[in-house]
Amino acid sequence: MNVMNNPLRALPSVDALLNQPKAVELVTAYGYAAALAAVRAAVDDTRARLRAGDSAVPDAQALLALAAETLRQQFTPTLRPVINATGIILHTNLGRAPLSLAAQQVVMEAAASYSTLEFDLDTGERGSRLIHAERLLRDVTGAEAALVVNNNAAALVLALSALAMGREVIISRGQLVEIGGGFRVPEVMEQSGARLVEVGTTNRTRAGDYVRAITPETAALLRAHASNFKQIGFVEAVPLAEMAAVARGHGVLLLDDLGSGALLDTAAYGLEHEPTPQESLAAGADLVCFSGDKLLGGPQAGILIGKKELIDRLKRHPLARAIRADKLCLAALSATLDHYRRGEAPRTIPIWQMIARPLEDIRHTAAVWAAQIGGTVIEGESAVGGGSLPGAVLPTALLALDVPRPDDFLARLRAADPPVIARIAGGRVLFDPRTVLPGQDQQLVRIAGDLMQSSGV
Ligand SMILES: *Cc1c(COP(=O)(O)O)cnc(C)c1O
Repeated sequence: MNVMNNPLRALPSVDALLNQPKAVELVTAYGYAAALAAVRAAVDDTRARLRAGDSAVPDAQALLALAAETLRQQFTPTLRPVINATGIILHTNLGRAPLSLAAQQVVMEAAASYSTLEFDLDTGERGSRLIHAERLLRDVTGAEAALVVNNNAAALVLALSALAMGREVIISRGQLVEIGGGFRVPEVMEQSGARLVEVGTTNRTRAGDYVRAITPETAALLRAHASNFKQIGFVEAVPLAEMAAVARGHGVLLLDDLGSGALLDTAAYGLEHEPTPQESLAAGADLVCFSGDKLLGGPQAGILIGKKELIDRLKRHPLARAIRADKLCLAALSATLDHYRRGEAPRTIPIWQMIARPLEDIRHTAAVWAAQIGGTVIEGESAVGGGSLPGAVLPTALLALDVPRPDDFLARLRAADPPVIARIAGGRVLFDPRTVLPGQDQQLVRIAGDLMQSSGV
């Protein structure tokens, strides 16, 4: 074969490529091993293409551009910040609650330094990590005692394992729900080794149903918040206070899985009233569990509050060690609870700021966006999400973009840096200012504006 006609001969060698200034840049940015592998892959792939009959030989710059793109993709973290323009405040897929400024700061400090995680400054001896959030939780909920674990699913498993292993727990058929991400209340209960006893029907359960199901094997009655599921029509559930009377009368415990556990009254913000942990305790629940990153607005955590004697049993259970909260979580949770103790939560906790944000203010932002990006401002609804307040919405104003291929536009928003998550309704791309954090405003305008320009709308 004529050497001059063999395109493989024209392909630069890996060594030659590595001497180019662009390659030196890649080595500096990504390290020698990764840069070498990417350059080698670019050459190998191109060689395979040429062998297969392609005759276009890329030059050194084109090969290095290929390697650079490979490296950029490889080194982009899979867990990264996004702009939530969906209007769903507690978006489970987008990480639920963003933290307050104070909570962010204490996480940084706890991460960067040694701390009093398990150290008692007064005695100079070993302390307990359990004390940090416990006092705050007692203060803001009025509970006798509290315990923080990894998440609420773990809290429920711990409570049932420690208090009902091998015994019966009675729950209404109306509360045997699946919460999302495959979390099914009955399956979680089984994991704990407690035997599930279902009472009532899907739509109606009465106090007498619980009473008839109680046997000497019964350890507890459990109420589970139906989370993102709502029944309407011919429906009856037993109020918690009535369940407490039944439990007390028969010497069994009453456990309440609240799911979200709002510490503030959601009804003050034009929403339905979400049950609070304080109310559950007042109604007579012995133990209440809820999440840290739903309506509490803090980090992922499972919070258990209630009778001291029961919390002490949970603390001693071996499972408690396996599902304990880490120092970053405890730091963030303490700072978040501190906002409630100071009575400043609606002003300082991002999810409450979003819930409380006046419609006029949202409309103004949407109008500013429309002036910069294009599109029109329309009325719409934001959702609370996060397995709380099913179907509950807040009136909002949206920026609506008419673009030729909305699905395409959404994909290009996701490919931006940072990715922007929007939604489509009625064939239009919609952006809800309510869930866009203050510092992300300008980024969103830049990204959506550029895309509008390049799509020539
Ligand atoms: C969300 C939810 C859970 C699970 O809480 P995580 O903190 O996500 O583990 C459990 N029970 C109910 C009723 C919930 O709504």
